[in-house]
Amino acid sequence: MNDMKADDKGAVPPILSFDRVCREFPVEQGFLQPQKILHALTDVSFDVRPGEIIGIVGESGSGKSTLGRIALGMMPPTSGSVRYRGQNLAELRGRNLRQVRRDLQMVFQDPNASLNGRMSIEQSLLEPLTLHKLGSRTEQRATIAKLLDVVGLPGSVLQRYPHELSGGQKQRVVIARALTLEPKVLVADEAVAALDVSVKAQIVNLLLDLRKSLDLAILFVSHDLPIVQGLCDRVLVLYLGRVMELSSRAGIQDGGLHPYTQALTRSSPVPDPARRLAAEDLLKGEVPSPLNPPSGCVFHTRCPRAMPQCSGAVPPLVKMPGHHDVACLLYGTEEAATVAAPLTPA
Ligand code: SF4
Repeated sequence: MNDMKADDKGAVPPILSFDRVCREFPVEQGFLQPQKILHALTDVSFDVRPGEIIGIVGESGSGKSTLGRIALGMMPPTSGSVRYRGQNLAELRGRNLRQVRRDLQMVFQDPNASLNGRMSIEQSLLEPLTLHKLGSRTEQRATIAKLLDVVGLPGSVLQRYPHELSGGQKQRVVIARALTLEPKVLVADEAVAALDVSVKAQIVNLLLDLRKSLDLAILFVSHDLPIVQGLCDRVLVLYLGRVMELSSRAGIQDGGLHPYTQALTRSSPVPDPARRLAAEDLLKGEVPSPLNPPSGCVFHTRCPRAMPQCSGAVPPLVKMPGHHDVACLLYGTEEAATVAAPLTPA
């Protein structure tokens, strides 16, 4: 079903649409110093379809978490728009806004920060239902009992407090809490980063089950590429707030087309020496400051395949065969196709 959705673009109307979203933050530089602008996201456009899991990957400072917050309407874009079922999030007010907020929920990295240590698990799970005045107390209790079942926790946890649960159990409670309002889109921001490997796998399987049973769309923000490759239908690769590549899972599993995606995928640990990168193809240097991003292709200062023209022109996102959208001057023209051979293993 997932590949069909990724392949059959346009057949299912998107539930969430980013259209040329930019987000900037003014940064004070000190007394009498001119203010600078931090470019957190620039011209980000993509659609999310119901039941689709999209991975958002990139190094620190790539804008992943900002994108997640904008997707939920927690932060407005500086320009561009985010539409939920066709409604511009920035224009919603009153009742419509409250309804959409119920439909868009978030799971954060640290379950300890998401749960109030002084509230029992039952109180934590009942709170959103009470705030939104959903059902009688008996109905609310029935809802949370069902949700505990969905996330694979016994009813006995209800009377316990967060410190009495393991990390994996707490994250399941956080997911159950996010599900109390029957969301249609879940943003999981590094939701498994703090968990042990075996617990990570359990939470990933839980997210896959939820997508299937609830037709839940998930934006899975992560720096963990192997998990993203296993979980997501499509993957959006960000660098310095710009989309470098939007690819099907198969495209990313094959290493991607964009030199940045290729460097990221090859730098993930794999027990196969044949997939090692040649030294000249390894990702070098630090991510430049988003206060002063490089001209042209923002990746040109680190790109192993950079050409003289890369510092002068911002590459457009072009559609390539195999469900890749790529922003790189190596792709998109007939001449470029002749030089766009994938990086070869060492
Ligand atoms: Fe590298 Fe140039 Fe492509 Fe940017 S446009 S990724 S610098 S080859």
